[in-house]
Amino acid sequence: MIVTRFAPSPTGFLHLGHALAAWVAYDWAKQHGGTMLLRFEDIDVTRVRPEFYPAIEEDLRWLGIEWEGTPWRQLDRTEAYQSALERLCEMNVVYPCFCTRKEIAQMAHAPQMGDGMEAMIYPGICRELPHVERESRMMRGERWCWRLDSAKAGAMCGNISWQDHRCGVQDLDPSSLGDVIIARKDIGVSYHLAVVVDDAAQNVNWVTRGEDLLSSTHIHVMLQRLLQLPHPQYWHHPLVCDEEGKRLAKRHDALSLRQMRASGVSAHEVLRHMTAHL
Ligand code: GLU
Repeated sequence: MIVTRFAPSPTGFLHLGHALAAWVAYDWAKQHGGTMLLRFEDIDVTRVRPEFYPAIEEDLRWLGIEWEGTPWRQLDRTEAYQSALERLCEMNVVYPCFCTRKEIAQMAHAPQMGDGMEAMIYPGICRELPHVERESRMMRGERWCWRLDSAKAGAMCGNISWQDHRCGVQDLDPSSLGDVIIARKDIGVSYHLAVVVDDAAQNVNWVTRGEDLLSSTHIHVMLQRLLQLPHPQYWHHPLVCDEEGKRLAKRHDALSLRQMRASGVSAHEVLRHMTAHL
């Protein structure tokens, strides 16, 4: 049975881009007699606001999108993330990084594509720090995060090419993605680790999401191999863009479903408009 999920962050109202992501997940499951789950990606507590959980559910219902069971909240799942992180530590494929954003910005090679969670490719400054230095800096209480040593992880995983339902075979040298953050000190996890652990725990076997996350999927495939988790099918759909071809996003004041609804647009019109992007 097909199990999909829609995984919004409760940091704002849903806009057309979210509506498309939710619709793809819902419709694909429905067409195949499967189910769609709703999962709140709420680990970034600095940006989450409580009113957006019910608001997102209400907007989805307005669109006619239904999900199975009680939505998961990633904030309830910290123990699962912690044990996945411990396994990665035991495998020696993660390392503590003490760099500040400013230091990275000065040394980073190029903008990181896709995931939008980390703006730059990390140049590996802390990758080879001696063990004693790591220990003493951690003991001193310096801020650090855990990064995946992508070259080492890539070597352990072997070929990580994977197939996207829409974009075909995806092949990439994992080290070209840089050493991404796997766990932040303050929240104990990052998007990459949480999404992989949760998709497996919820038996999600079709991950449908926007094509901006295509490059992140290489990281997720590596993490699945390292943690011996199942590999779901992937479908990265096009993004909803405005008239100038710019991607809609909350931070660009994208028209929210709320605003559209208040101005008399029907759910049917919203669905017609956004599925034209597929
Ligand atoms: N929380 C992500 C977003 O709102 C979705 C990530 C995913 O589907 O894996 O864009």
